Amino acid sequence: MKSSETYPHSLSVEDVLRQFSTHPSEGLSEQEANARLKNYGHNRIVEKEHKSLWHIFFQQFKSPIVLLLFVAAGLSFWFAEWMDAIAILVVLLINAIIGFYMEHQAERSMEALKKLSSSYCKVIRDSQLLEVNAELIVPGDIVFVEAGDMIPADGRILSVTKLLSDESPLTGESVPVEKSSKRIDRETTLAERTNMLYKGTFVSHGNAYFIITATGMQTELGHVANMVQTAQDAVTPLEVKLQSFSKKLINITIGIVGIILIAGLLYGQKLTAMLNTSIALAVAAVPEGLPIVATLALAQGMLRMARRNVIVKRLSAVETLGGTNVICTDKTGTLTKNKIEVTNLAVTSEAAKAIINEVAVLCNTAEIYLRGKESRELGDPLEIGLLRWVQQNEININALREFYPKLGEEPFSSETKIMCTLHRKEEQFVVYAKGAAEELIQRCTRILLEKGEEDFDPGLREKWLKEAEQMAATGLRVIAAACRFTNEEPDQLSSELVFCGLIGMMDPPREDVFGAIEECKSAGIKIIMITGDHPATAKTIAAQLNVADPDKSEVINGKTMRHYEDASDDEKTSWYNAFVFARVSPKQKLDIINVLQDRHNVVAMTGDGINDAPALKKADIGIAMGLRGTQVAQEVSDMIIKDDSFSSIVVAIKQGRVIFVNIRKFVTFLLSCNLSEILVIATGSIFNLPFQLFPLQILFINLITDVLPALSLGVTNASGDIMKQPPRNMHEPIIDKKRWFSIIIYSVIIALTSVGSVVASHYAARQDQTWDPKLSNNILFFTLIFGQLFHVFNMNEDPERFFSSEVLRNRYVWGAVLLSFAIVFVMYLITPTRDVLSLYEMHGIDWLISLGCGLLSFFLINIIRRIKLVH
Ligand code: ADP
Ligand code: MG
Repeated sequence: MKSSETYPHSLSVEDVLRQFSTHPSEGLSEQEANARLKNYGHNRIVEKEHKSLWHIFFQQFKSPIVLLLFVAAGLSFWFAEWMDAIAILVVLLINAIIGFYMEHQAERSMEALKKLSSSYCKVIRDSQLLEVNAELIVPGDIVFVEAGDMIPADGRILSVTKLLSDESPLTGESVPVEKSSKRIDRETTLAERTNMLYKGTFVSHGNAYFIITATGMQTELGHVANMVQTAQDAVTPLEVKLQSFSKKLINITIGIVGIILIAGLLYGQKLTAMLNTSIALAVAAVPEGLPIVATLALAQGMLRMARRNVIVKRLSAVETLGGTNVICTDKTGTLTKNKIEVTNLAVTSEAAKAIINEVAVLCNTAEIYLRGKESRELGDPLEIGLLRWVQQNEININALREFYPKLGEEPFSSETKIMCTLHRKEEQFVVYAKGAAEELIQRCTRILLEKGEEDFDPGLREKWLKEAEQMAATGLRVIAAACRFTNEEPDQLSSELVFCGLIGMMDPPREDVFGAIEECKSAGIKIIMITGDHPATAKTIAAQLNVADPDKSEVINGKTMRHYEDASDDEKTSWYNAFVFARVSPKQKLDIINVLQDRHNVVAMTGDGINDAPALKKADIGIAMGLRGTQVAQEVSDMIIKDDSFSSIVVAIKQGRVIFVNIRKFVTFLLSCNLSEILVIATGSIFNLPFQLFPLQILFINLITDVLPALSLGVTNASGDIMKQPPRNMHEPIIDKKRWFSIIIYSVIIALTSVGSVVASHYAARQDQTWDPKLSNNILFFTLIFGQLFHVFNMNEDPERFFSSEVLRNRYVWGAVLLSFAIVFVMYLITPTRDVLSLYEMHGIDWLISLGCGLLSFFLINIIRRIKLVH
């Protein structure tokens, strides 16, 4: 029964069924499926081996700075400074453990996110069609797929209606392949096995039932994946930018080390002392926590979004989200509820009314099941709306469908905007058709009046088009219905139809959308509504939702839009200025994105169908719908909105902004801390001051006073006005010139107050004129720590609102600062750690001076921010 040994394409359907002991309409039993799952394993492509815990741990030692510290430890051993040597090693270990923990944590969050975007498929088990997680599919399962679905596993086709499959992911061949259930020669190559469906490819048209013959790594995709499993988690642009900060600091340091070496030689310092200083500088220069704090902040943000119905599939999408300034959104189902109800009917005659009922039931692929007392619905909401309507008219859906069996179908597509089905009605054939009014009326040659079928003359057409327009202008979604009776089977379904009337359907706006739209407006984000509906419907709904002022802006009709390539500049400008597009085809969505992107907009675009895939890919943020979106759309999108609601998009954009602002906060914080350390050490060396910081002290500061508050800044909530500001310019770096300037000023202030505290304590408290190097060192150390810890509270966005700032309200910040203080004092109180950090007993006055100077630095920075000297 192993698929690799058999060739299901060369067997008849019956043989395959027998081989996999399954039944075409009953499927497997749940019990059997579970047993097979144990046997065959989950249907998943085993990704590149997970990083083992040891691997992650040892990676922490790979950075050049850590190697440098190892050298330092070695030198300390050489000079028999045992305490230093051991301490450096211990610190390295602690550093590795923290790094390890955070990376592990980040990896776990990513994993959790991946799970959220798992896909489902329709499978027959115990004679029922169920939705099952695609990972639980086993060989022998009977699976149903239709247009837009990804194929969950390899299988042999049982029965098929006009199925085209896009196998480009597997074969590279981009022309869809037509499939059948006929058996074929055993030697046929993969690309030509027209009776097989393969995992990872997708259905672009039609539908099929097929028997699963191989799952997981046994599939053809699995074989390929085995060969090409290379590192796929590429670094995000953000990571690249962050790495560049470290490089900048290291460059500054190398320069300073040079100066210090020269100064040291001039002052005749010992080589070991200079070495120590250089090591201290090297340590000070590297914001060790930065990349991992950033990853963690992103991953946390993504999890937070996931709790609010937004699944972000790429880390880097978060960054783009924050800069989004145009949202192109579908109307139906995203702005509206997609709970469609028939409210109006305009028929051509009594006889036509009966036909419309039949159209509603028969030209319809939706189902309403009764399960006990509950009714379950499956299918297009518009079609469900039609079924509910005929149910009210006491028509028996199932009976009608049985009486007039379906022989053929032209499915609805957003290109043609028409759907037709062919049925047997007693001795005759009958076509039932429904679709967008203009489109369907164009294909009708006759009309069913009281006297019977008549010519559909231009005057009448005009009248009915007007009628449709009037219905649409009240905000209704309008479809036209038609039929055609013939004695022979017609070749083409959607022609020579007989017009029967119009159905008006209401699809009310979602309540939460109004607020979201207001929020977008204040946030400088333009909303463009795109719909396949009638321009009049679009206009009315847009006005209701306050997307566009009906008097000021015109609705662009997709029918009149030329191709992007042919359109004049004026035409493109009019698209660029429009808020509403109606009767749009998926291809035109791509044109709209092009025009927007030409003018440097960052565009988010929603989509649900297979045809939307190119637009979803092209948009800066492609947003697929979780409920009504096809798997293909979800596959190519950057983000999935689980509840389909527009307001979730706005939630995501807001979160994107928050995450970005938080990243900027802790980058600013970390850089100013590291730079202040560099400055303190450099000042000491260059001016040959009688006190200096030790490498271990710097390490301690970097690991405690830097990382903890930085982490807490990463989870700051939005400041009140985050959605009142215009979108960020995506071309601007995270830290622009203005902010670099601020960072330099911050660090100068922190460094000056630290050095100043030593001077202050020396002159204020001591009468004798000799410096006490130990005490000086300690005061320097503590003041630097205090200054940096207080500095966190200056990381709020709006300097004028300090007391109600988002940072002050972040309890993690308070927690991190208090914890850091506590750790500092514990280190001071316990003898061994005190020795390692070269700490000595300090008097009350020394503590006061340290704290005072730390606070002074805080106030100075606070003031220069308030007076807008720096940002
Ligand atoms: P959107 O989803 O953007 O509102 P659609 O492409 O779904 O647009 O629909 C466009 C038009 O096609 C609708 O205004 C309606 O007249 C018609 N239509 C929509 N769904 C169906 C369907 N299932 N069968 C027939 N016609 C439909
Ligand atoms: Mg639709």
